Amino acid sequence: MIGPLKILAAALLLLCCGPCALADQALRHIGLQLLWKHQFQFAGYYAAQQQGFYREAGLDVTFHEASPNKDSVDAVLSGQYEFGVGNSDLLLYKASGRPIVVLGVVFQHSSLALVALEKSGIHNIHQLTGKRVMIEPHSAELIAYLKREGIQVPQSRIKFFPHSFGVEELLNGEADAMSVYSTDEPYVLDQAGLNYSVFSPRSAGIDFYGDNLFTSKDFLQAQPGVVAAFRQASLRGWEYAMAHPEEMADLIIAHYSNRKNKDQLLYEYEQMRPLLRPDLVAAGYMYPGRWQHIADVYTELGMLPSDFSFKDFLYDPDALHIPAWVYWATGVVLGFSLFAGGCAVYILKINRRLSREIAQRKVMRDEVEEANQSLRLQIKQIQSLQDELREQALHDPLTNLYNRRYFHELLEREIAQNERDGKPLSLVMIDIDYFKQINDTYGHQTGDRVLVALADIIRSAIRRGDSAFRFGGEEFVLVLPGIGTEVGYERAETLRKIFAELSVLTDEGDARTTLSAGVATWPIHAADAKKLLHEADKALYVAKEAGRNRTVIAEN
Ligand code: GH3
Ligand code: MG
Ligand code: MG
Repeated sequence: MIGPLKILAAALLLLCCGPCALADQALRHIGLQLLWKHQFQFAGYYAAQQQGFYREAGLDVTFHEASPNKDSVDAVLSGQYEFGVGNSDLLLYKASGRPIVVLGVVFQHSSLALVALEKSGIHNIHQLTGKRVMIEPHSAELIAYLKREGIQVPQSRIKFFPHSFGVEELLNGEADAMSVYSTDEPYVLDQAGLNYSVFSPRSAGIDFYGDNLFTSKDFLQAQPGVVAAFRQASLRGWEYAMAHPEEMADLIIAHYSNRKNKDQLLYEYEQMRPLLRPDLVAAGYMYPGRWQHIADVYTELGMLPSDFSFKDFLYDPDALHIPAWVYWATGVVLGFSLFAGGCAVYILKINRRLSREIAQRKVMRDEVEEANQSLRLQIKQIQSLQDELREQALHDPLTNLYNRRYFHELLEREIAQNERDGKPLSLVMIDIDYFKQINDTYGHQTGDRVLVALADIIRSAIRRGDSAFRFGGEEFVLVLPGIGTEVGYERAETLRKIFAELSVLTDEGDARTTLSAGVATWPIHAADAKKLLHEADKALYVAKEAGRNRTVIAEN
């Protein structure tokens, strides 16, 4: 499991379980598989129960005695009970792939030994060859002891048979020797006044750990809190038990078993003291190096593979044990977080894309707006160009007065308007006299200058509402809306007089001439535009005929 996930899982565990641990929950039922019948050997656990240490830890513990037909290690590994008391052969179970975790060592030295009555004739270990030996389960260290002594079990023809958890077989001769706890059965033999030999592995240099507390790896992973609490309460119980042997003996007899009397239990206690060394060693203490030594001995004797791994075998109370479900939950939380993170990243991406698109569209909109503006400007320019062209189309380029084309359009409109207003409209038709001679005498350019000069005179003389036109070569027309014949005549006369005074300077001398004009008034002299023009032209013709330089009013 990777580190960060473990940290996350621990945080989740604290968050979820911190408050729960304080809550007054129902006691959790726990089973402890003992290694033997009830006796002082398990006093620490009884003390933890009696003193309420288990209850304080939220546990309700029941103890289960060992029996010949039940494998105590299997009882724990199968999940029947949560904890067990085992000895150093747990190493062999572990080597065979059984997921065992040792939580702490109670017996710093094993009390397992072999005993033979004097009457059996067995006075040294080698005399066991060919004999019947009653042996208890989980006593691999005794086999190691035999091997160490050079006794190869199969070849030695020792007949092993299962232990009855009693001494009768030894006493009645069914067994020549049997496995014992040095703390236990010798008392019975002493009481019976029997002489016997004790063969201890220690005499062959085999000094293994004895009883220890263990659980399964599965349970530790599932319930690390329960494991820690049970272990702590149990070891507390051991400290109490070894400090209060009398109380413990009474308790065992009263609550657990009267198989042994108090004296016998206290004998057991006395034998246990040097094996537990409560004065020197804290209950539960175990040293990995010592376990390694035990493994080495087993390996040396061919009972354990040399590549045996201690991984997960020794419990570390200081390590962070996180329940499997927390890993799952953390995984789920992490997964969800990743999913949520993924969604957030996705949304962020979409947002960015949208923002980009919005920005692009804004740019496009600005560009379109700009294009529109430029289009509007172009349309305006075209319109003004059109207006200009239109103006140009209506004007004479030389004099910049309206031209003949516009004259017809305007005259019709003005007559209609004056008809609505009930006002007259006069038309003055002008023709320069002897203009051909000007051209001939001073040149065409001078002729143009004369034309422009007359246009300027007309422009300065006309009033608001009047219109002036260059009608043809040297012919001009004035449209005077709301003006009757008399005023029309006066206007024509004014122009004629000013023009008669005009001199256009040339290299050949002053160019001077006059003009003639004909005046006709609507609706007096004509009923429509066409006739009005004709009448004014006729009057002009009359002026020419009459000698020029004069104004003639059309005939009624
Ligand atoms: P009248 O008194 O009978 O009107 O004699 P006139 O010479 O003015 O009459 P006519 O019709 O014989 O001559 C008009 C002349 O005007 C002919 C033509 O060359 C000249 N003319 C017409 N347009 C222009 C122009 O734009 N510039 C110049 N310089 N001369 C022009
Ligand atoms: Mg003319
Ligand atoms: Mg003329």
